[in-house]
Amino acid sequence: MPIHIPAITRRQMLKHSAAWGAAMLASAWLPRRAWTMPPDARPHPEHWAILSDTHVAENLREVNTGVTMADNARQATEQIATCGDRLAGVLFCGDCAYHTGESGDYKTFAKIVVDPLRRANRPIHITMGNHDHREHFLEGLAGVSAPGPVEKRFASIVPGRYADWFILDSLRHTGETPGEIGEAQLKWLDRSLAAAGPKPVIVMAHHPIERVPLPKLNGLADSRELWKILTSHRQVKAYVFGHSHRWLIEQAEGIHLINVPTTAYLFRKGEPRAWTQFALSETGLHITLHKVGDGEDLPAEKMVADLSWDASSSIIPPKRPVAEHGGG
Ligand SMILES: [Zn+2]
Repeated sequence: MPIHIPAITRRQMLKHSAAWGAAMLASAWLPRRAWTMPPDARPHPEHWAILSDTHVAENLREVNTGVTMADNARQATEQIATCGDRLAGVLFCGDCAYHTGESGDYKTFAKIVVDPLRRANRPIHITMGNHDHREHFLEGLAGVSAPGPVEKRFASIVPGRYADWFILDSLRHTGETPGEIGEAQLKWLDRSLAAAGPKPVIVMAHHPIERVPLPKLNGLADSRELWKILTSHRQVKAYVFGHSHRWLIEQAEGIHLINVPTTAYLFRKGEPRAWTQFALSETGLHITLHKVGDGEDLPAEKMVADLSWDASSSIIPPKRPVAEHGGG
């Protein structure tokens, strides 16, 4: 059940402009079909926008620790919609909803995030976090699912020019912090990677991989099983995740572990609130953070990172201890 929401074309926009609003989400114009990348000639490099942990509540004025989540999500959406670089897609790394994945949260999320991005011709791909709820998501964004490779999970492959995205759904139980990829998704991932060519692969899911188990599980319950698969396929160059509401890059066994920041509230001071722009090339990835909301600015050099697909990667991330995680 992949969640791909194609951009709306100018013709469709004119056709449907009269019925814009609630009817926008009707399945009539959100076709149930497998995702395919539209053919075109993108200039080098290929840009993607990553959003994580938007935590949009039904109530636009909902505040958590001084942050109005809807305001920040709107700001990020506006920046992405007007971003001068041509974007191949917008990827949501989970925790779209505020706390317990209510249907109303997704209605607001659709109205202030999904609809404007579609109107701006941005194709969207979404996975779930531990504060999401699959059924409510599908109610709130009617008609966006397509038959997928793994039953009851939002797993999919999104092809890119320089790297393919393997999107996994790590939601185990709504409102419970740890996540799980699950046996069916793990098998699908292993099989799909074995069948894939040499093109680099970036795997994305909401939860962190805990390569060293923490006293209290915060990330994936099946971290070890996932890590074994990722490290046994040489095309896997990076694992992208959210959950911790922090910005951090590590590298282990040739795989870049990229913790993309939240646009919403923080669990610790000094972290950025931002959406993330990936500029992919044949040899690696340039990352730029785009700040949203109030709060302190990170030094400019910590808002970017250069990752190379070979082992001699030059990384310019913030340097912080990695053992402690907050998850949400
Ligand atoms: Zn979160």
